[in-house]
Amino acid sequence: MATILPTPPKVGMVSLGCPKNLVDSERILTKLRADGYRMSPDYAGADVVLVNTCGFLDSAKEESLEAIGEAIAENGRVIVTGCMGKEAEAIRARFPQVLAVTGAHQYEEVVGAVHTAAPMPPSAFLDLVPERDLKLTPRHYSYLKISEGCNHRCSFCIIPALRGDLVSRRPDAILREAEKLVAAGTRELLVISQDTSAYGLDLRHATYPLKGGGEVRAHMTDLARELGKLGAWVRLHYVYPYPHVDQVIPLMAEGLVLPYLDIPFQHAAPNVLKAMKRPANEAKVLERLAKWRAICPDITIRSTFVVGFPGETEADFEYLLQWLDEAQLDRVGAFRFEPVEGAAANALPGHVPEEVKEERYARLMALTARISAEKLAAKVGRTLPVIIDAVDEDGGATGRSQADAPEIDGEVFLRDAHGLSVGDIVPVTIEDADEHDLYGVPAGR
Ligand code: SF4
Repeated sequence: MATILPTPPKVGMVSLGCPKNLVDSERILTKLRADGYRMSPDYAGADVVLVNTCGFLDSAKEESLEAIGEAIAENGRVIVTGCMGKEAEAIRARFPQVLAVTGAHQYEEVVGAVHTAAPMPPSAFLDLVPERDLKLTPRHYSYLKISEGCNHRCSFCIIPALRGDLVSRRPDAILREAEKLVAAGTRELLVISQDTSAYGLDLRHATYPLKGGGEVRAHMTDLARELGKLGAWVRLHYVYPYPHVDQVIPLMAEGLVLPYLDIPFQHAAPNVLKAMKRPANEAKVLERLAKWRAICPDITIRSTFVVGFPGETEADFEYLLQWLDEAQLDRVGAFRFEPVEGAAANALPGHVPEEVKEERYARLMALTARISAEKLAAKVGRTLPVIIDAVDEDGGATGRSQADAPEIDGEVFLRDAHGLSVGDIVPVTIEDADEHDLYGVPAGR
């Protein structure tokens, strides 16, 4: 059975006025579509209705006001945008129930108003960031989205269909946001996207001037280097092993970027990777891992894998286990293949029975837990920097080492942590370890 994604909200649109306004409407709808919204052709099916107004002539204004009135009568949840946004007070006086009024060309505001009026339901298949992390309060770590969409077409994934091709943010804008976050107390920046290694491709890796002088290229390596100068931990997620990733490893060895790479390999067997249409699968990954470890011995490699992909044979799965044994990845997450509604992989032959998926999943988890336990045991006796996530009333604290991303990796449990605060980065002597977590004490206590 296919996994049904949560139903996205539907947006209705009434577009009035000139062709310029129509182009604005299209841009707003394109952005909303990219954000996952669906469109409603009628009032009844819409969760919120946008009225894009025209205020060029009095007759056009009257037509716009009538359209707002009709949308309120038919639906009730109305956002007004367009030229009449300049007359927000008059609109609110006549229609106090309108949810928001924004002006012409204010795409971000109107899209933001839709997100507020009809929020997208969270979905593990679409969202990079776990739902519980979407807090608006200041905190000691922050996600930094550097691009949206993806140029790949992995057969199990519907992100490109929903969010479109890669659109990178300008590097100077990303750095401005990162600076603000650090100034507001962020100690760790988590760089996210659908494909971090592809960052800047759509901008042709152009160079942009920086506020205080200098310039930055829209490229993963250059962005990582500039982010590293801000003084916070910088953690890279969703990196594919393209050749240029080699250039980031020295930044890790220098301490500018955390020695941590989250690379969703998904599988190792060539024919499964081919059926998955995975990017960069031709790279000799094991050799690359060895090279990276030679440059930066402390590097943590995290990855995720799918078991039971259509057509995966017992031999393919054995290949994967063998590969994992050689790769010695530090952190591994696994999923049993689920056909997500709309994904091309659903039509592939050779679907794997559920009980086989379960059995393979258990075998993979047992192997990776053993590798993880060995790797963590080797850390006992070392003193590692730890960022504090929570402090207990009884003097204990919970934190993470540089090898642990929040929510997805392990934790470090501290004893005798009196006087520490959330966000502190302190040296911790590791006293014990299990399959996933470390136990320690602030150094010198
Ligand atoms: S790389 Fe593949 S899995 Fe990741 S977002 Fe792009 S299409 Fe989806």
